[in-house]
Amino acid sequence: MPLKLYNTLTRKIETFRPQDPQKVKIYTCGPTVYSSPHIGNFASYVYWDLLVRVLQANSYKPYRVLNLTDVGHLASDADEGEDKLEKGARKNGLSVWGVAEKYIKEFQKGYAELNLTPPQVVARATDYIKQDIELVNLLTEKGYTYETTDGIYYDTSKFPHYANFARLDVAHLKAGARVTLSNEKHNSTDFALWKFIQPNEQHAMRWDYLGQPGYPGWHIECSTIIHEELGEPIDIHTGGIDHIPVHHTNEIAQSEAAFDHKLAHYWLHSNHLTSEGQKLSKSLGNGYTLDDLLAKGYHALDFKMWVLQGHYRSERDFSIHDLKAAQNRRLKWRNEVARCKQGIETADNSANVISEIVSTLNQDLNSAGSFAIIDNSKVSSLDFWEKVEELFGLGLLEDKNITSQQAEILDQRAEARKRKDYAASDLLRAELEKTGITVLDTPSGQIWQYLS
Ligand code: AMP
Ligand code: ZN
Repeated sequence: MPLKLYNTLTRKIETFRPQDPQKVKIYTCGPTVYSSPHIGNFASYVYWDLLVRVLQANSYKPYRVLNLTDVGHLASDADEGEDKLEKGARKNGLSVWGVAEKYIKEFQKGYAELNLTPPQVVARATDYIKQDIELVNLLTEKGYTYETTDGIYYDTSKFPHYANFARLDVAHLKAGARVTLSNEKHNSTDFALWKFIQPNEQHAMRWDYLGQPGYPGWHIECSTIIHEELGEPIDIHTGGIDHIPVHHTNEIAQSEAAFDHKLAHYWLHSNHLTSEGQKLSKSLGNGYTLDDLLAKGYHALDFKMWVLQGHYRSERDFSIHDLKAAQNRRLKWRNEVARCKQGIETADNSANVISEIVSTLNQDLNSAGSFAIIDNSKVSSLDFWEKVEELFGLGLLEDKNITSQQAEILDQRAEARKRKDYAASDLLRAELEKTGITVLDTPSGQIWQYLS
């Protein structure tokens, strides 16, 4: 079963065919680094980690770029409102650069805790300002832009396929816009490529362009970074479904008008997470971070397990309660590994089961289906679990071995059982449990298992 993915471009499940199997070019729209990343943000990066691992399992070599938005993402998609970084800086009492630094670190920490495969390139928007300006100049030369007092805008009426990607009803948008088009935009879908900083405006990040201070619009960085780091067309572009109608539509308009190539062959979009029935939000107290989950006794990888129990295109509702089942499943798998390490392995036809798992994953990243295969499989060997770990990165092999003190208690207990001194053996088990492991009696003797 070859890898099949749902392509937003065609709204169809398609067989994946990369341009070069040895370098599958992937771009992921990254976080805006102005506040602590919440579990909704991280869920999307868990899905793209799965994508990378599944590509590898199909013998492809992914080459992936992730951007970090540290400038220009305004509070509203309509190029209005404050830059989120400026807002974050004020809230934290830090400089804009300081705020970016702080939240890039938090993002990287969570990324590592979730065992997410590092991208080949991590690109900060502010490192590409010169190239952004070159791209705006190119679009101007080609007649796609106009200037207002507010900045340089992209004239979406000049790009005939503008509405195609998101299946936008532009006629309807225009009708609605006639009333609300209050600034100097020519069309309601036009967007800022570059913003001028007005004399009364606070904006610490600033660069000179056209003789005045300004900063890039949000969408330009992705077109620029893709052009610089990957080259069009790329194979796969990923992001959240919120990106379809504006951000990705605008990326396509910029890149395809400037460089005369299709931007990406496959577009993958992850659906959103709600939390306890509502939109994730700090003020509602349901916008959990990974540290919040840790404080409640859950490892980041328990959350990863929860994410992978669902499908990236389904809307999911998170609850702390459901995390328990994911934690239990991960504990069960870790204890399977512990059994194997103690020499209890089943006859090894792991290759067949692994190929069944990969076939299931190849159906548009069906991780939930592949987990059912793992749970129902009679196979358990170190070789098998190593392959499972490669596919999902759930930290199944990371546990430390038992200590010499625990080994000694286990020996004493084995002796006690030989003497049929069950009272002593129960006491020794209780002693073990205080150290975080327990012991089971099996036909092949006692084995230890993790308690958490
Ligand atoms: P942002 O930092 O707001 O640009 O978001 C970073 C990524 O997280 C984007 O791909 C968003 O689509 C995604 N995202 C934001 N909120 C959620 C949510 N509640 N559930 C899932 N993904 C989200
Ligand atoms: Zn983007």
